[in-house]
Amino acid sequence: MIHSELTIIGAGPAGLAAGFYARRARIPFTLFEANETVGGNARTLRAGDFSFDTGAHRFHSQDEAATRDLLELMGDELLQINVPSQIVFNGRFIDFPLSPLNLIGNFGVSNLIRACFGLAWSRLFKQTEQTSFESAVVTRYGKTIADAFLLGYTEKLWGVPPSQLSPRVSGKRLQGLNLRTFLIEAFGGSRVKTEHLDGRFFYPRSGIGAIMDHFAAACGHEQIRLKSRITRLYHTDHRISEIEINEAEQIPVSEIISTLPLSVLLRNLHPAPPADMLDAAKRIQFRNVVLVALFLDRERITPNASLYFPDRTLPFTRIYEPRNRSIKMAPNGKTSLVVEIPTGFGSQNWTANDSDLIERTIEQLSSLRLIRKTTVLDSMVCRIPFAYPVLKLGFEETVAKLLTYLSRFENLHIIGRNGEFAYTHIHDLMKAGREAVQKLKRPSEKPLLVEAQN
Ligand SMILES: Cc1cc2nc3c(=O)[nH]c(=O)nc-3n(C[C@H](O)[C@H](O)[C@H](O)COP(=O)(O)OP(=O)(O)OC[C@H]3O[C@@H](n4cnc5c(N)ncnc54)[C@H](O)[C@@H]3O)c2cc1C
Repeated sequence: MIHSELTIIGAGPAGLAAGFYARRARIPFTLFEANETVGGNARTLRAGDFSFDTGAHRFHSQDEAATRDLLELMGDELLQINVPSQIVFNGRFIDFPLSPLNLIGNFGVSNLIRACFGLAWSRLFKQTEQTSFESAVVTRYGKTIADAFLLGYTEKLWGVPPSQLSPRVSGKRLQGLNLRTFLIEAFGGSRVKTEHLDGRFFYPRSGIGAIMDHFAAACGHEQIRLKSRITRLYHTDHRISEIEINEAEQIPVSEIISTLPLSVLLRNLHPAPPADMLDAAKRIQFRNVVLVALFLDRERITPNASLYFPDRTLPFTRIYEPRNRSIKMAPNGKTSLVVEIPTGFGSQNWTANDSDLIERTIEQLSSLRLIRKTTVLDSMVCRIPFAYPVLKLGFEETVAKLLTYLSRFENLHIIGRNGEFAYTHIHDLMKAGREAVQKLKRPSEKPLLVEAQN
């Protein structure tokens, strides 16, 4: 096979975005994907007339250029949604992000007063060092709120005690609610509801995977090689010289954008990196998610985009109802619930057989009175590996060490959630893809022409 100017590894959002921008910049490329479909961890699966995403996805309009490019690419297919989310706490539904007004009704006045005093105390008098996620949220919200809503949830999601997690695991979720807005809202009444209750986002009519399908079409399907796992990256003189596909074919490369999980990239290098790098690669970990989708003979279960479950006795963190994002996700008069169970490689939930997972989930949702067993029409289990990079305290140092080592390969560009080991989202990955391609375009060079593309 003749090699392209650019080789991209992985057809998840990051690799597809890189391909999309490369195509725009008229840079010839080939994109290699191990699976038989594109989309990585942002796909939409179908089961009969039902559809659901590989996790409760939404597109955030936080990167202006990414939003503009996506709107241009998808037009009317991209909907603007305004749907709330809630936390289920002791059988009550509480707004998420937290709102003192709603907490008054559902958390109890005495608990709320305790929460406000706890919050004021920790913010005004007890300025603990915000080293971990736990200390950051206790300082920000007070112990009562942190214990009730955030710490159990976080431990289930990441599989690590919150005292050992970086504050960065909260992403942008906990922005917006500070001591001032909390107290003003709690005691100021409905006039002062603040912007952190925002449930607005973009979502494609046919599910998040439609973004990936549009990217793949814009890349040109002929540029994407599916079922092509990169099994080795050969290097010489500080350059990646060749890649090996499916332990068989070898292809020379010029520039290369990798979205492989950082530790997988390191392990696939040939000659192998020094032992201390391989040891460092072992120290970074990823979290998986098992999805249990239940297809229901009910029109609607809740009006929410997502429900969050901080209760430590339940294995799942979040349940979403796809139809509340787009009515195309379920047939008329029917709905579905998708349950997210975070787990590690080799753990009980990851290796459990599908029928046990489904049976247990139906029991749990029936006990919570979310569903009636008799309304379950069908079900499906989906396993998502490498769902989250686990941002343990001190992870930055290990990641910096690995990325510094990899920066010696002058034609290697690393992007992606697991590639950069960062808690990033689709808009961030689009930006990363765009910037990686911009680095390849050198203004002094004449534009590269793509052969045989419409
Ligand atoms: C539960 C959940 C909810 C989420 N919600 C949101 C949300 O609401 N909004 C949002 O913006 N983002 C959300 N995300 C994040 C988003 O899905 C991920 O960030 C995104 O999929 C990461 O994209 P990526 O391209 O970096 O990696 P991936 O999606 O993991 O893609 C990597 C690709 O590389 C391929 N690959 C791996 N190894 C090889 C190999 N050796 N050779 C060739 N190919 C290989 C994989 O098969 C995969 O297709 C969510 C993620 C999860 C798990």
